[in-house]
Amino acid sequence: MVFFKNKEEGPEKWKEKYLRLLDDQEQSEKQFKANEELLCKTIVRFALAVKGLNRQLDPHLNRIRSLLKGGLQSQQLQKELTAFSAALAKLEDSAETSLADAALLFEFLGKRYPLLQDQLDQIRDNYESRKFANNQGLFLALLELIEADSKPQPPLAAEVGLAPGDIDVNAIHIQLIRLLDNAEIPLFFAEDAEQLKQRIQSEQQPLSRVFDDTISLLLSIKKHLEAEQREMAMFLAALTEQLTELGIKATGVNSAAENSLKKRNLLDRSVSEQIQELKEKTENATQLEPLKQVVSSRLSAISEQIQEHNHREQKERDRVRQEMQALAAKLRDMESESGELRSRLDAAQQRATRDPLTGLPNRLALEDRLADEIARCKRYQSALTMIVWDVDLFKAINDNYGHKSGDKALVIIGKLLSEHCRQTDFVSRFGGEEFVMLLPDTDAVAGLQVAEKLRGTVQNCSFNANGNKVNITLSCGLSQYRDGDTTESLFERADAGLYKAKQSGRNCCIVV
Ligand code: GH3
Ligand code: MG
Ligand code: MG
Repeated sequence: MVFFKNKEEGPEKWKEKYLRLLDDQEQSEKQFKANEELLCKTIVRFALAVKGLNRQLDPHLNRIRSLLKGGLQSQQLQKELTAFSAALAKLEDSAETSLADAALLFEFLGKRYPLLQDQLDQIRDNYESRKFANNQGLFLALLELIEADSKPQPPLAAEVGLAPGDIDVNAIHIQLIRLLDNAEIPLFFAEDAEQLKQRIQSEQQPLSRVFDDTISLLLSIKKHLEAEQREMAMFLAALTEQLTELGIKATGVNSAAENSLKKRNLLDRSVSEQIQELKEKTENATQLEPLKQVVSSRLSAISEQIQEHNHREQKERDRVRQEMQALAAKLRDMESESGELRSRLDAAQQRATRDPLTGLPNRLALEDRLADEIARCKRYQSALTMIVWDVDLFKAINDNYGHKSGDKALVIIGKLLSEHCRQTDFVSRFGGEEFVMLLPDTDAVAGLQVAEKLRGTVQNCSFNANGNKVNITLSCGLSQYRDGDTTESLFERADAGLYKAKQSGRNCCIVV
């Protein structure tokens, strides 16, 4: 077996060559390691910079960042990159990548993966002739190409200090400025962002410096936004509490009136609509200051509405209360008026049916009562006896002792007749010195007994007229109700009895 092809290439030469190859390999490995580190660093920075831009991609970016610590060769990293590319494919194609962006992307990828230049050109042709349905199609093609090629790539030109002409620094400047222009910069960072843009535009500082500064500004903004997000959450919690309280106040407005209830329902609806609108606004809000303004103006509007409602309610309540008071006063007046009327009526009735001197029912009352009693007799076939009394020689009392004594005698006689009969009997002053009694459920025999007893009572009473003892006697006629009797016929018979009694010498009772 021939080991050495050429005699000139002796062992010495081979050793030298071998050592040189070893050196080259060592150099190449070092270079590879440096490239790998640089790539990892770039990806980590990229992942940090884009974190928060898309929620679906964030978990992938976090995992990729931590996996990168283990180097590019990690199997898990490969898996994660596949998952990342799938997540990327699912994203909606919200904005078309401009041709300028695509040019920059292809330029960057061309520098980064020079060995893939042909395939990249192919993809670029496809993109420019619009063969991809959307940007995801483009990204997928690029990712597949890059993942398929696992060979180490030269480091990023800007990072390893290649000549500025190697990459389009100006295009990157433009992209950084565009990034800052498109990012939502809170007021607090506006000045820093403006200064940074000026620094980028002036092109006096190296690309790596302004690149780092842009990333750190964006990270600070992200932190600030996170803090603001937390503050917003706290603010929203406090707001919800306030709104709940407000809702309770609104629904707590009390009113019994149906009208007021309707109005309150309208208010409740309006308040809850506004609260709902507020909720939507706060949910969609991305910045705290404008949100605070919206919330505070809305709250004042709601508060004003409630105040106005309360004011109207109060006015309405006052009006109703006044109306009620007026009504109550009117009712009281009417009550006392009707009471007065009643007592006047009673008095009138009394006057109309009572004899003022003796206080006994008068002739009018007798007529009413007699009609009632006759009706009862007819209905129940019960007995009824009438007695017609006349004071004997009364004219003489007046004449001898004066009219006043006569009156006094009439009062005493009325009292004696009333007190010495039954509760159900009726005693009236018929007129002058004549009294008429009605004895229900009493026939003429029993009636005569009553009449005799009364006559005796009056005869035995000691009447004193101006210091003189005066004897008073009564005469009476009695009649018992008979079928077909009228008030007149019954009276006429009794009166006939009285006439007979007078004829018989007075102080006696005669039934007819
Ligand atoms: P006789 O027994 O026949 O009935 O005799 P008499 O005097 O009672 O009858 P007469 O009809 O002649 O007189 C009745 C008198 O009664 C006449 C009248 O002045 C008197 N008299 C009628 N009403 C009143 C009254 O209210 N007060 C007084 N003091 N006297 C009256
Ligand atoms: Mg008489
Ligand atoms: Mg008389």
